[in-house]
Amino acid sequence: MADYIYTMELRLSPQQQRGVTLVQDVARNAGMNLYLTGGAVRDIITGFPIRDLDFTVQGNPLKLQKEFERAGAIIGGADDYFGTLYLTLPGAVRAEIGSARIERHEKTGKPPVVTPATIIEDLRRRDFSVNAMALSLNEGSRGLLMDPFNGAADIELKVLRVLHNYAFVEDPSRLIRASRFAARFHWPLEERTQARYDSAKENNYIEYITDHAIGYEIEQLAYEDDPLNVARVFEKEGWLKVLSPHWTTAKIDTNGLSQLMKTRQQMVDLGYIPQPAPAMLHFLTARLTEKESTDIRKMIPRRDLAEAWRDLEDHAKELSKRLTGKEAATPSRTWKLLSSVRPEMVLFLAITTRQQAVAQKIKNFFTKWREVQQKIPLPEMTELLITPQLPEYPKIAEDVFMLLLDGKMRSRTERLNFLKPLAPPPPPPPPPPKRGRGKAAAAAAAAQVPAPAAGKGKKKGKGEPPAAAAAPAVAAKATAKTAEPAKAAAKPAAKPAAQKTEPKKPAKPAAKKPAPKPAKAAKKKH
Ligand code: ATP
Repeated sequence: MADYIYTMELRLSPQQQRGVTLVQDVARNAGMNLYLTGGAVRDIITGFPIRDLDFTVQGNPLKLQKEFERAGAIIGGADDYFGTLYLTLPGAVRAEIGSARIERHEKTGKPPVVTPATIIEDLRRRDFSVNAMALSLNEGSRGLLMDPFNGAADIELKVLRVLHNYAFVEDPSRLIRASRFAARFHWPLEERTQARYDSAKENNYIEYITDHAIGYEIEQLAYEDDPLNVARVFEKEGWLKVLSPHWTTAKIDTNGLSQLMKTRQQMVDLGYIPQPAPAMLHFLTARLTEKESTDIRKMIPRRDLAEAWRDLEDHAKELSKRLTGKEAATPSRTWKLLSSVRPEMVLFLAITTRQQAVAQKIKNFFTKWREVQQKIPLPEMTELLITPQLPEYPKIAEDVFMLLLDGKMRSRTERLNFLKPLAPPPPPPPPPPKRGRGKAAAAAAAAQVPAPAAGKGKKKGKGEPPAAAAAPAVAAKATAKTAEPAKAAAKPAAKPAAQKTEPKKPAKPAAKKPAPKPAKAAKKKH
């Protein structure tokens, strides 16, 4: 049995991997079989970016809402009819959990009749062979790929193939989906699929598309990496006006879209994960009327996405106000503010603001201020033993960074004045050297007996401290000139020196142990 778990783990981001574990745990606790399905499996195999996670459970995922919330997921919407849950998992991972089902299309244009099913039956209701694969996430079969339509072979061939003759008739939204995947992957439709596509298009089956499917496909457009490219294909095929009657590419703010993609990439490179979908919808519908946009919004299945899009401009205005007020009066306060808001808000404001001061602050946040991090006084911090091992280190480093942002801590004295009170106490002195060995050696030597262990100590010479005791002395020498803790570091060096003048105390216990052996040997020699 082919094991795709390794490939899956290799291809998923750490956040997505944690997402898979979270969903797995919830499904296992509920006793439901769980599979990774649809685009996620396709993209694991193709190597294309995995944008979201589609799961299928044998059972009703709507019953698991509370468990998902408890595990840290956000419920973005739920579809009672199909039994689908739209989630955002920690780390901004988009996920959809559907119930394994059979869909019987009895009347064109009407929603299918839905009945619970096994995973294999579920795969039969899918759109294209490359989307009709499932990866088991269940104990015992974890990693098993189910591929009843040989989607893996079509991935090799790079073609889109429907599963049966009536695919486009049953569900005309698949015409739009075919165009979307073809535009994204640059894969053609397989020959017979193309013929069926052409025939369905000619017969205008698209007029039977359901509102549910329209909303779903509009939402999917907002998740595309290059929605403009897809929108152009939609327009050419006549699908854009199906999604909204007056929608054309001329109604799209193309400049806004390209700015959005550029700034988003910059943020991703800096380690942020902004969710661009609300802003995508904003620019995609920029020149539609308010009513047309509202109508589109109502159809989107993920309610959290629809609301985020609706509130985008108001939230941006609010953030803009905060950025020009007291709350952002200094660079450090601005940094804190911009770090605390959702990255997508910064993304949207960066593109849309007309206020020079706001634009400059966001620009500094992404560029100049980041460089200040290089100025953190690591030599002084190390000198004062303020190192990453300290539990307080992140807080100290953050405070230092904030002061640096505001142009403080320029001189060494300023830096030391701030850091010294935060320095940890010096480490305890090393244990005293085992002088007993020396004494044993002396005893052995006196008895003219070879004493291997003691001999080493003897080699050093009378006045020379053992190696362990010498180290702190070196450290003390290196630091004594500059800092307070250096004085403390000098202390351990003093101890061994003092011990040289009180030989009896440490010698006592040591003499008890090693002494008898050489003594015995000595006896034998005599
Ligand atoms: P991506 O998320 O990368 O755009 P996807 O294949 O995951 O691609 P979704 O729209 O998220 O696309 O759908 C998830 C899965 O649900 C699909 O892979 C497919 O198996 C199934 N699916 C979605 N819509 C339909 C449909 N209209 N007919 C049949 N199956 C569908």
